[in-house]
This record gives sequence, structure tokens and C-alpha cells, in this order.
Amino acid sequence: MTKEKIYLSSPHLGGNEIKYVQEAFDTNWIAPLGPNVNGFEEELAAYSKTAHCAALSSGTAALHLALILLGIEQDDEVLCSTFTFSATVNAIAYQKAIPIFVDSEKETWNICPKTLEEAICARIENGTKPKALVLVHLYGMPSKMEEIMQVCDKYSIPIIEDSAEALGATYKGQKMGTFGKLGVFSFNGNKIITTSGGGALISEDQGLIDKSRFLATQARDAAPHYQHSQIGYNYRMSNIVAGIGRGQLEVLDNHIALRRANNEWYKSIFQKFEYIEVFTEPSSDYFSNHWLTCILVHSNKKNIVGETIRLALEDENIECRPLWKPMHQQPVFSHHPFYSNGTSDGLFEIGLCMPSGSNLSDNQRYRIKSALLKVLRN
Ligand SMILES: *Cc1c(COP(=O)(O)O)cnc(C)c1O
Repeated sequence: MTKEKIYLSSPHLGGNEIKYVQEAFDTNWIAPLGPNVNGFEEELAAYSKTAHCAALSSGTAALHLALILLGIEQDDEVLCSTFTFSATVNAIAYQKAIPIFVDSEKETWNICPKTLEEAICARIENGTKPKALVLVHLYGMPSKMEEIMQVCDKYSIPIIEDSAEALGATYKGQKMGTFGKLGVFSFNGNKIITTSGGGALISEDQGLIDKSRFLATQARDAAPHYQHSQIGYNYRMSNIVAGIGRGQLEVLDNHIALRRANNEWYKSIFQKFEYIEVFTEPSSDYFSNHWLTCILVHSNKKNIVGETIRLALEDENIECRPLWKPMHQQPVFSHHPFYSNGTSDGLFEIGLCMPSGSNLSDNQRYRIKSALLKVLRN
């Protein structure tokens, strides 16, 4: 009999989601928008300690609208973390803009402030100053915000924070998504909380969020008939989906605590194996939500590599995955400029994501630990 599959990250419901969805059914608010959407926006803005929030159909939609709101158009250059998931860059491609990939630094795995400044200077020298930075906080780890903001302020480049993986994470006590002009969240099925599929855009700037809602509902002008003066999108979150989101927000901090406990648990398993490094915060300035716990498998006498571990877990029906393959290595994006320092290539080479759900059971934990000890002690 094959064992039940253990996923990297699977939906974990709190219980009250159905209450909000039921309310929507009972009041016939099945149509898009409605009280759950308004409630979800208010509750998410309050959670993030930011002024305004628009609930959208996906994180990718939020990224796309953020770029439009900053006036990104065809052939504009947009700086972007190379170490990310493809959705970050797809949104730039939708605008026919040009992603300028920037490498990571070793402490947070996010954009390197030094390489970022080198990239900006090189582009300016080239006569094409980048119009924005899409900054990713990968695996829930906050970026080096102070240094990055300093560089972006110096060259007046607005930041869009792709916080799809970093909901609830903080840098010096401030929530990720609130440092930039606009912040993006995702509620896809594998994220820290889920609405089955969904996203959000946050900002201190009410004008930007109002405009995002307008664009997300087909850009309909204020007129009794249907009139449109610009291209719109169908990017709003539905009232049903927002009901799931409201239930999930109630358990978000609890889920973060559980994911952080997973990170500690993996540290305790791997501490005897000095060639395995568990990715964790560089200092107490950083508070990661540890959406996924990642490890680096450094060279060792036993010749165990990441793939050895991944295959051993796969044999036990336990999901384990290489880190995100950097965007400059992707066939679809590899022709775009890339400012390298070697970091993301090195991480991709030796890194793995471990099963990190907030809903891992004791039995699942036992299976994971046994499988790991078996392959590491062989
Ligand atoms: C998941 C994710 C997105 C996209 O969010 P969707 O809701 O799936 O569209 C964007 N960026 C990063 C870094 C992500 O992990």
C-alpha cells in the first residue's frame, strides 16, 4: 500500500471559513463583491497595519495592476529579483516591459543591495533608467529593507513588494508589503493562508488602491450606460472566496507560529549533520513567517547531495523540491539583462525546500524525520 502523500504546503483551514461562506449563501451574495470582500479588505489592511487594500483574483493579478498603477509600459525597464517564482516576472512581461534581473545576497537570499545599485548605475549609463523595482521576500524571509530603500530613494525608483510568500513576516517590527509604494499578497492553495486562489494589493495611497479596484472591474466609467475610456481587467476577488479569506485571517498568526516551529524542528534534526544548513533569519531584525523551511546541502565526505535527499523522500511519498530556479536561467527569460554575483546560481545548485505545512501531523513528522535520518546515516 502506498503511503499517504506529504506535501510541501497544503491548505489548512481554521474552521470559521465555512461560516463566512454560509453567510454569503444565506444572503445571496454569490455575485462578485459583497460584504465578505469589504470585510476581508478591512481585516487584511488592519492586520498589515496599512491604510488601504484591494482584494483581487490572484497575486499575479495584483502584481500586474501594481505595474500598471506605476505607469509601466512597453519597453520600460523594471528591476526584479532573479531568485523568485515565475509569476513575479510574468506580470512584467504582460506589460511588454523588460525585466532587469538582479542577484541575491547570501544572508536573506533576496536582492543584494550592492548588486542592485550596480545594476541601476549600469542601466543609467546605458541611457535607460529603470522605472520600478519588484522586490521579492522569498520563502517568507524579509529582504534587507534599510539598504534597499536607501538605494531606491537615492535613484527615486519606486518599490513594488512581492510579498506573496511573506504575509505576516516583519523587518524591524514592520510588516512586509508596507515598505514599498505597493505591496502584493497571494492566497493561492500552497501559500501561508489560502482562499483557494486569490490575491491582494495594499498601499498607504488611497488613490492607487481606488484605481486598482477600477481597473480590476473592467475600468467602467461613472455613467449609467457602460462606458470605458481605458483597458480594464476582470481581476476582483469574489464574495465567496473572500469568505474563506476572512476565516483564514483568524488563524494566520497561529499558522505562522506553526511554520516557525517547523523551522526549529528541522534545525534540531539537522544539527548533527554539519554539512546541512537550515535557512533562518540573519538577526533579530528579521522575522520570517518560514512559509517553507529550506536547507542547503554543502559538500561532504558521504557525497550526499540535495538530489540524494529529495529522491529518498520521494521514495516515501514525501514531497521535497529544489529551490526556485532563478529567472535568468529560465529559457523564457534568459535573454534579459542579468546582474550577477553568483549567489542565486549557487543556492539553486544545493538547496531544497522541505515539507512545511502548518498542518503537519505528528505521524507525518515522524515519517519525515525517519526518512531523513535513514538517508543521512546510511
Ligand atoms: C505565489 C507567488 C506569486 C503569485 O501568486 P498567485 O496568487 O499564485 O498568482 C507571485 N510571486 C511569488 C513570489 C509567489 O510565490
